[in-house]
Amino acid sequence: MNSPPYRDATVGALLTRLAESIPDNEALVYADRNLRFTFAELEVEARLIARGLMACGVERGERVALWATNVPEWIVLQFALAKIGAILVTVNTSLRAHEMEYLLRQSEAATVIAISGFKDVDYVNVLRDIGAVGGDKLPNLKRAIFIRRGDEQCPEDLMPYEALREKAAEVSDAELNAREALVGVDDVINMQYTSGTTGFPKGVMLSSRNIVNNAYWMAQGLGYSPEDRLCLCVPLFHCFGCVIGVLGAYTHGVCLCPIEFFDARKVLETVEAERCTSLYGVPTMFLAEMEDPEFSRFNLSSLRTGVMAGALCPEALMKRAIAEMNLREITIIYGLTEASPGITQTRRDDTLQHRTQTVGEVLPEMEVKIIDPASGETLAANQHGELCVRGYNVMLGYYNNAEATAKAIDADGWLRTGDQATLDDEGYVRITGRIKDLIIRGGENISPKEIEDHLRQHPAVSDVYVYAIKSEFFGEEVGAAVKLKAGEAATEEELKSFCQNQLARFKIPRYWRFVTDFPMTASGKIQKFKLRETHEEELSVQNRER
Ligand code: AMP
Repeated sequence: MNSPPYRDATVGALLTRLAESIPDNEALVYADRNLRFTFAELEVEARLIARGLMACGVERGERVALWATNVPEWIVLQFALAKIGAILVTVNTSLRAHEMEYLLRQSEAATVIAISGFKDVDYVNVLRDIGAVGGDKLPNLKRAIFIRRGDEQCPEDLMPYEALREKAAEVSDAELNAREALVGVDDVINMQYTSGTTGFPKGVMLSSRNIVNNAYWMAQGLGYSPEDRLCLCVPLFHCFGCVIGVLGAYTHGVCLCPIEFFDARKVLETVEAERCTSLYGVPTMFLAEMEDPEFSRFNLSSLRTGVMAGALCPEALMKRAIAEMNLREITIIYGLTEASPGITQTRRDDTLQHRTQTVGEVLPEMEVKIIDPASGETLAANQHGELCVRGYNVMLGYYNNAEATAKAIDADGWLRTGDQATLDDEGYVRITGRIKDLIIRGGENISPKEIEDHLRQHPAVSDVYVYAIKSEFFGEEVGAAVKLKAGEAATEEELKSFCQNQLARFKIPRYWRFVTDFPMTASGKIQKFKLRETHEEELSVQNRER
């Protein structure tokens, strides 16, 4: 077997290749739990769990929702599910009951696999409340599997993950091989929910060709080899974690050192203890690490490269990361879930200016163009317009939503990103704004429409609009302008608590304003930018007066 890098493989076969070519290299390390897998061991584990899932009746093409932090089982399942051709549906760890119910219903998932909970959300209670466990409200759902952490007990109404090991005895290696042989590189292998350019979360269908090859090119850009070790602190449920992170590392035989959920101190400890050479994050993560009061006591000399992505990467922050964290070859990646996700990447050896002021050049084997969003005409160099991308990396479509798919991808295969950008004569892309109605708070995407729809159900609310408010730390925070019904009263606190158990915490507006009217265009469209400007102005006056 040739040594890595690999491409054009299914996700399941990628691990098999590594287990054959570099079996004894470390593949996955959780330093804080003393857990270490080599590639050979990880392949054995993934095959065992794959056989267990087959024994439970998990079918090829079946959607399996995985609701967990970055636990080791997540990565094992990413490969185990791929081997049996099941579709891994990743689930944001902050979802609340009605968001989870929507996801399970829309994806028609037959299996849900969950940990006990995260922060203030008890996943098992949620699953019971929405009838995913012990109910028949979700007709497609057949099984719920529980991943135990520490000394937790598995609730009686869920199946313990460990039971998959015993069940595996019912399915032979040959049966697993036969199933795996049916899985092709163009089959849907992964579904991720994103609000995309408009409205409600949609399931982005991605194939192995999409994500393995996209991961390969980004990892090439990082100059990866099996000598590298990646500290992975971004969530696995997002393509930053499971594609750029896991698959990017494994196309090149890189060892993964994940953190269960982001904690700046843990990142610093892991980089030092495991001599990591690479580190990823959204801008706020790098900031939190550098602002840790004990930052200077950590030895980060092993670091070489990494990725900053997910939101606008401020030039000053990039410069600090290069200088203070020894990330001399760090790159910026720009992309979106529908593009697998990477579209552009800065080069490790670019000028400092290009590495900090642009999002780099288009990745190999795909094309970009900038269009006038109204007319669709391609624009000349340096003109602001909507960035579109075409190539192997464009998603297969949104699950059960042909209409939204047709809006996102045109007949010639161009995906509209909803991002405003320029492309210069040398091929460098700059992201200059956003055309789609989306808020990005510290790398978490928030659809204003989802919050507006929820708040409009409040009996005192006549209408409401939600928009971004500039924030030094998060990049953007959520602001809301509320118009109450005549004679009705509601306070900010009441509206917040109305959101509490319905919307993930990061979506709940931080800043509120009560208004009597909304600014509108002549054609009756709400001018969110005006709402935003007025609100920001009010906040800065308040800050000055403080
Ligand atoms: P997601 O689908 O969650 O990956 O979110 C994708 C969106 O995040 C893009 O459409 C952009 O608006 C934004 N984004 C991602 N990376 C960058 C970047 N490097 N610079 C600016 N915006 C970015």
